[in-house]
Amino acid sequence: MNVKRFVKPNVYSLQAYQAKDIPCRVKLDANESPYGFMDAYKAVRSVRTNRYPDPAAQTLKNSVSKEAGMKPGNILQGNGSDELIYYLITTFGGPVLYPVPTFSMYGIITQALGEKKVEVPLDKDFDLDEKGMLMEIRRKKPRLIFLSSPNNPTGNCFSSQTILKIIESTSSTSLVIVDEAYQPFASSKGFIPMLGDYKNLLIMRTLSKMGLAGLRVGFLIADEEVIGHVNKVRLPFNLNALSQAAAIEILKDKKALKKNIRLIVSERGKLFSELSKIAGITPYPSEANFILFGVEDADGVFNGLLKNGVLVRNMKGVGGGCLRVTVGTPDENRIFIRALKLILKNSPLVKADKGG
Ligand code: PMP
Repeated sequence: MNVKRFVKPNVYSLQAYQAKDIPCRVKLDANESPYGFMDAYKAVRSVRTNRYPDPAAQTLKNSVSKEAGMKPGNILQGNGSDELIYYLITTFGGPVLYPVPTFSMYGIITQALGEKKVEVPLDKDFDLDEKGMLMEIRRKKPRLIFLSSPNNPTGNCFSSQTILKIIESTSSTSLVIVDEAYQPFASSKGFIPMLGDYKNLLIMRTLSKMGLAGLRVGFLIADEEVIGHVNKVRLPFNLNALSQAAAIEILKDKKALKKNIRLIVSERGKLFSELSKIAGITPYPSEANFILFGVEDADGVFNGLLKNGVLVRNMKGVGGGCLRVTVGTPDENRIFIRALKLILKNSPLVKADKGG
């Protein structure tokens, strides 16, 4: 039987998301937190495995809504924010516009659902190209616009003035989703305080970067009417009982969550300064829990790091060759820097020394 014949053309030509499980000693490739929460185990003991989970995830939504200063009706739970991207495009359709480079799932899901992609290159500083964005919005009339800020993989926040201009200029034509997966690590406040002012503004948040990636918990925060429509395409029990129970418990410990974020932000500063001193490396400033850096032989350095037990992400298509490293524990970061220095010292591509 020729299975190919049955696959929809948009799915046939699709490349699956690259999430390989490569064995390594130091895992700095997936923007996870190096700090987990043992308390999660206590919370899940009372979960009754024979019963379906709460379909509305009400207790969890109550806790998140309080934190966000919104009503529970403004929140929709997702099995990670990935699932919410699926639901948004299923609900509203395309064209779907986003800047590039950015989080690859916007494009993958758009294509999987047979919708049209509109990609607008970022400017040379990795910020939104305001003119280019507004022009493509006028020409292609996207129904959805995804803006990851801080942006994955570049690490920077986009200019909030430009984001506001985009939201305002599309108030009756597009929904603008600001994906704040990395907002907890940023110095700015983010867009939750603006939700009341713009009905076409939607925000995505996730617990994945804060030590709970294994639970798969994400949220959409938006106008109640918008949430109501997206909720219609949500699978009834999309958030399992173990994840709900663990997330409810862990979200109570705000002090621990904040402490971990502070630690990562402080380590990010040290990592950036170490990277800046290495000849042949160009790190880009980051407001997230990872750092993108340019390097001449990205494949060679990636493989060299892996040989030394350190796994990072190879961002081949970005700025003529870049790697992305997640901020780890102080020990993990030291091992990474030591391995990187060793590889570059032996590389014929690196001639000059930056000193220091
Ligand atoms: N948005 C961005 C910008 C991301 O980088 C990621 C994860 N890499 C996600 C969303 C998805 O996160 P989740 O684990 O909640 O599905």
